[in-house]
Amino acid sequence: MDESLSEHTNFRIGGPADFYLYPKDLEDLGALVDFCEREGILRFVIGNGTNLLVSDEGFRGIVIDLSETFTHVSCKGSVVTVGAGVFLRNLLKYCTERGLSGLESLVGIPGQVGGSIFLNAGSYGVEICDRLRSVHLMDRLGTLEKRQQEEITVGYRYTDLPSDGIVVEAQFLLSEGNPKKMESVQEGYLKERREKQPLSLPSAGSVFKRPAGDYAGRLVEEAGCKGLRIGDAMVSKKHANFIVNCHFASAQNVLRLVDEVKERVLERFDIDLELEIHLLGFPER
Ligand SMILES: Cc1cc2nc3c(=O)[nH]c(=O)nc-3n(C[C@H](O)[C@H](O)[C@H](O)COP(=O)(O)OP(=O)(O)OC[C@H]3O[C@@H](n4cnc5c(N)ncnc54)[C@H](O)[C@@H]3O)c2cc1C
Repeated sequence: MDESLSEHTNFRIGGPADFYLYPKDLEDLGALVDFCEREGILRFVIGNGTNLLVSDEGFRGIVIDLSETFTHVSCKGSVVTVGAGVFLRNLLKYCTERGLSGLESLVGIPGQVGGSIFLNAGSYGVEICDRLRSVHLMDRLGTLEKRQQEEITVGYRYTDLPSDGIVVEAQFLLSEGNPKKMESVQEGYLKERREKQPLSLPSAGSVFKRPAGDYAGRLVEEAGCKGLRIGDAMVSKKHANFIVNCHFASAQNVLRLVDEVKERVLERFDIDLELEIHLLGFPER
């Protein structure tokens, strides 16, 4: 009860959730989801909390965490089946050891499989849904459904998976690769991330989506926002599309900074930046 969500978000920000639960298996998850539906209790599925800003007031409901039990990975030929709670880095390690190639560009994305599919995470020209074959999805009544990739509409940081659906498992179709080469490609991406991203401070990754034909980071920087600070929330001096928590930033600090940056970019370029990070516990937004 009253679990602080700052412990579960990469931003290290967020008030308490009424309950924070780790379902012990699929059946348990189904019963929990069904219970929430019948009792009218709000619920939220969290991944690794790396794309999330939680309000200072927290969340009046149940947060569901799949990272302790939905952690299976197996393969048959070039098809990999993986639980939603598996960290992308562990999936990549598994695939690299077996020479199963296709997801290497995603190395360094600190999320789990379920969250990454839900929002179609991507980097260096590859999106996770490019290699998706199917997902097992639980609906709001606790019923399981399998969706093939072609039944899911995907876009930039977007899928049309229902917002109250829970990804519990996914299958990826990969290609044959050379483990040594795959490893060195990933090292290259990680090096670039270390050089360009403020990885030593808490953040939620890119704050704004890339606007058509441009980069949010460039616009934010050109609008003079690098280093702009409200409380302990600061637009990173290293990468302008990251807001970092310098110490004890509140969610309010971050949101005020977001609004200020949006306003300056709108004024300068007439472009209305769209948030990439997901919000939890902000009824007014
Ligand atoms: C340093 C850093 C670098 C990053 N780089 C990238 C990058 O290159 N590319 C990129 O795309 N992102 C990047 N991100 C953002 C983030 O890591 C990814 O978007 C990641 O895929 C989010 O996964 P998560 O498990 O942390 O999801 P969370 O942040 O926990 O959740 C995000 C959303 O997904 C939903 N969700 C979570 N699990 C499930 C599930 N099982 N079923 C249904 N919905 C679910 C949540 O309800 C929430 O709405 C970066 C973040 C950081 C901090």
